[in-house]
Parts: sequence; C-alpha cells; structure tokens
Amino acid sequence: MRKPLVMGNWKLNGDTKMVAELIAGLKNELASVNGCQVAIAPPNMYLSQASDQIKGSLIELGAQNSDVNVSGAFTGETSPLMLKDVGVKYVILGHSERRTYHAETDELIAKKFAAVKENGLTPVLCIGETEAENEAGQTEAVCAKQLDAVLKTLGAAAFNQAVIAYEPVWAIGTGKSATPAQAQAVHKFIRDHIAKQDANVAKQVIIQYGGSVNAANAAELFTQPDIDGALVGGASLKADAFAVIVKAA
Ligand code: 13P
Repeated sequence: MRKPLVMGNWKLNGDTKMVAELIAGLKNELASVNGCQVAIAPPNMYLSQASDQIKGSLIELGAQNSDVNVSGAFTGETSPLMLKDVGVKYVILGHSERRTYHAETDELIAKKFAAVKENGLTPVLCIGETEAENEAGQTEAVCAKQLDAVLKTLGAAAFNQAVIAYEPVWAIGTGKSATPAQAQAVHKFIRDHIAKQDANVAKQVIIQYGGSVNAANAAELFTQPDIDGALVGGASLKADAFAVIVKAA
C-alpha cells in the first residue's frame, strides 16, 4: 500500500522570518496528521534553518535541485552530499522551470537522478507536457521520453526509493489544474510504462500530481487510484491551505 506524499515546493520564495513563521504554522496545523508523508522544499539558503525547525515533527525536508558532483570546482552549485548533510531527504529534479530557464536536458536530469540516489537521497522526478504538446496529443509520448531517460540509463530499479511528480506545464501556476480524470489517465500511463519493465517497482512507486493543487481541488484529485499525493507550489506557502491538502491525502 502506497502512503501518499504531499510536498511543498516553495520555489524562490521566503526569508528568515517567513520560513520561521510558515514552519511554526505547519507544525501546529499538522500535529495530528498520520497516514500521509509530508515534506517541504524551501530554497537552499534556508534548508539548515528549516532542518532545525522541523525536528520532532512529521515534516521532512526536500531540496529543489542538486548538482551531479559531490565536491570540487563547480562554482555556485550544491552537491547531493551537502543536501544530505543538512538533513534533506527528497530532491526535486527536472522541474519544468529548471528545464525551461536552466536548459536542463533529460540526459542531465538522469545524471542528477543517479547522483542523488548514490548519495542516499530520494529523487522526485518531475515530468509533464506543455500546453502545445497537450493539444497536439503528445502527452503520453512526452512523459514516456522523460521517464525513459532514467529507465534507459538506470533501469526500472531506479524507481525503488524514488518519487515521480506528474506536473503538466500548462497547469503550473495557472490556476488551471488537470481534472482528476485527466490526471488519473496520465498517472496510470506512467505506472503502466514502468510496469512494462518491472511490475513490482511500478506498484510501489509514488506518483504525485502537481499543477495548481489547492485546498479546494485536492480531495477530488486524491480519490483517483494512481494519484499518491501532490507536489504543491503556490498553496504550500500558506500553512492553512497546505494543511487542508495534506489532510485530504
Ligand atoms: P503551483 O501549485 O503553484 O501550480 O506549482 C506547482 C509546481 O510547480 C510544484 O512543483
């Protein structure tokens, strides 16, 4: 039985005060939660602060990116070992914003996936089609290609101790979530695609939905059999809204 994972991707938001207040609010709102895994991914700058603050709560720590290298002359990067050192468990990889604004390719993302796993962290692999690809009927082909980058280099076993987030690009930050039926169809496709290589791995892998998840639409999304929680952007910056989403999972 898969335990859903609701994770807040804070993106490039926050400062010391906001991080302190948001985590305090989350600890308060989520004190009685069980049956759902919860994580927050603040900007790297605030990971240590968040790590200290979440101690003793059910909240776990995620990062929004990682380099492929563990150390060396790579100015401006953060290594998977450093993330682990400050208490990170999950690392979001291949988010569409990194693919778009930082030209991250499927090949680079597969290398990051391998590096993150080798260092004992859990990758959260984001995949999903753009609006144009969706309208051209290419959703499944795009998701398959993005999954295959990892499957072909690391094999299906890569998705043991890993998470997939289906995030249609057209739904991110637009207020236009995929419908539960639309999302379920793609989640089933993703699980079936992995099952072609390893049915057991496919059965246990957590597949989150992301893209305009909010307090009002989460519960219905979570009724779908292949939707195992959510990767939440905007609504994760408010403790009360995020708590409603967690409790719906
Ligand atoms: P929104 O929830 O703001 O649409 O963002 C989703 C997202 O990109 C999570 O990674």
